[in-house]
Amino acid sequence: MPETNRLQNYINGKWCESSASQYLEVHNPATAETLARVPLSPPEEVDQAARAAAQAQVEWRRVPAVQRIQPLFKLKDLMEDAFEDLARSITLENGKVLDDARGEIRRAIENVEVACGIPMMMMGDFSEDIARGIDEYMIRQPVGVVASICPFNFPGMIPFWYLPYAVACGNTILIKPSERTPITMQKVFHLLEQAGFPPGVVNLINGGPDTVNAILDHPLIAGITFVGSTPVARHVYARAAANGKRVQAQGGAKNPLIILPDADLETTTNIITDSVYGNAGQRCLAASTVVSVAGAAKSFVPALAEAAQKRKVGVGLEPGVQMGPVITPQSKERILGLIQKGVDEGARLVVDGRDAVIPGYEKGNFIRPTILDNVPAGSTIATTEIFGPVMGIMHVDNVDEAVALVNSGKYGNMACIFTSSGAAARRFRYEAQAGNIGINIGVAATMAFFPFSGWKESFFGTLHGQGKHAVEFFTQTKVVVERWLKDWSRQF
Ligand code: NAD
Repeated sequence: MPETNRLQNYINGKWCESSASQYLEVHNPATAETLARVPLSPPEEVDQAARAAAQAQVEWRRVPAVQRIQPLFKLKDLMEDAFEDLARSITLENGKVLDDARGEIRRAIENVEVACGIPMMMMGDFSEDIARGIDEYMIRQPVGVVASICPFNFPGMIPFWYLPYAVACGNTILIKPSERTPITMQKVFHLLEQAGFPPGVVNLINGGPDTVNAILDHPLIAGITFVGSTPVARHVYARAAANGKRVQAQGGAKNPLIILPDADLETTTNIITDSVYGNAGQRCLAASTVVSVAGAAKSFVPALAEAAQKRKVGVGLEPGVQMGPVITPQSKERILGLIQKGVDEGARLVVDGRDAVIPGYEKGNFIRPTILDNVPAGSTIATTEIFGPVMGIMHVDNVDEAVALVNSGKYGNMACIFTSSGAAARRFRYEAQAGNIGINIGVAATMAFFPFSGWKESFFGTLHGQGKHAVEFFTQTKVVVERWLKDWSRQF
């Protein structure tokens, strides 16, 4: 492997070779080819980055907001120019099909665009005469140095739920990408370098759990955002909070979709298939459980089975391919084990995707779309986040039972309903315990100007990523009560 494939950190405006004693290989999940080697950066490099960020923040917060957003306008143009290159990079390291990767970069750019509105979004409030001759006002100031710890499944988008808002609000930031998909951020930081941020404002630190823990413990870092699995989200939330930091931690999911018998068969089938199998089921908004109400399954199970079998599986860069591989061989093994567990626990295997060999790509981590019907309530398949291309189908008699089933789950990332009844949809929206709701929508991905919500074990904290929530999270409020007596000014 040529040395050029060793990924670097970007600290204080400079690319730096890590002194890490360990590098991990980054593989293309479709071919098993080694794409790069990523350093597991030691705590001293986190310290270097945090110090550089703290030093830069002193001056960066004094730059007026209208000027702080100028590098973001430039970044948008640079990202538009590099659009195809960034999308290809995501497909190569993550495996998702090129169109999904393009959609991901589009979402990243949308967050840059929204953050360009910071001068208005971070305005304060003013009340004149809260008592005679006394005024009171609230201003927003940056929190200081912040850090974002990111997962493998959206290597291009998730850092952008945070970075544009953080820096536009006057903070400086460290980004820690997933060690499984660190290449796209390497490319993004080459664009950030050209966008015109002063040294130390944006920093990239590669690594794994030890690097994360060094970030969580660092006294100069005031705020942490995390996206990843629930056990790690819980750990990050607890450890960072114990160190006195503000934290938001997005966790895992087990997203249910409810089908009523009055749902449109063709559209609903297409939408559900996309939701379950898009990015090989490795989206935090991937549907995992389909809940059939009052016999809807009678027409839907054959339609879903046909659509699942037709789905073209292969290498994400090839035209016409609809689903790529899962991220690692270990992930594939875990998913195959869960499918078997489902069968052992009494589910009926309607479509079996376990024997997936893609000619020419025998080393890829492929699983074809799989459907398990009659999944028993409370079973492993019904309750575990699979994060693979597996649909579990469950059956209930009415909407009450469907809502109860949805709300019995420990996660609350997304819940969707498919129906032509406005009353049923409204009731579902009102009752469902999830932060993102889809009504005849299978992937309720919020636009950049809405918070990416999540409830229960899918989220720890109060403020989410994106939009106004991000502005709240990346600023602290200061309230001033002010009195000026006439007599005082007469002296001058
Ligand atoms: P992960 O939890 O394994 O890793 C996420 C990050 O945490 C990585 O940067 C990793 O280096 C770090 N990490 C891993 N183990 C750690 C440990 N023990 N201590 C400290 N840091 C650690 O998650 P993943 O596999 O990369 O991503 C998939 C998960 O992310 C799924 O559960 C998915 O549902 C979730 N996800 C959630 C959302 C959301 O918005 N709720 C969005 C995307 C992904």
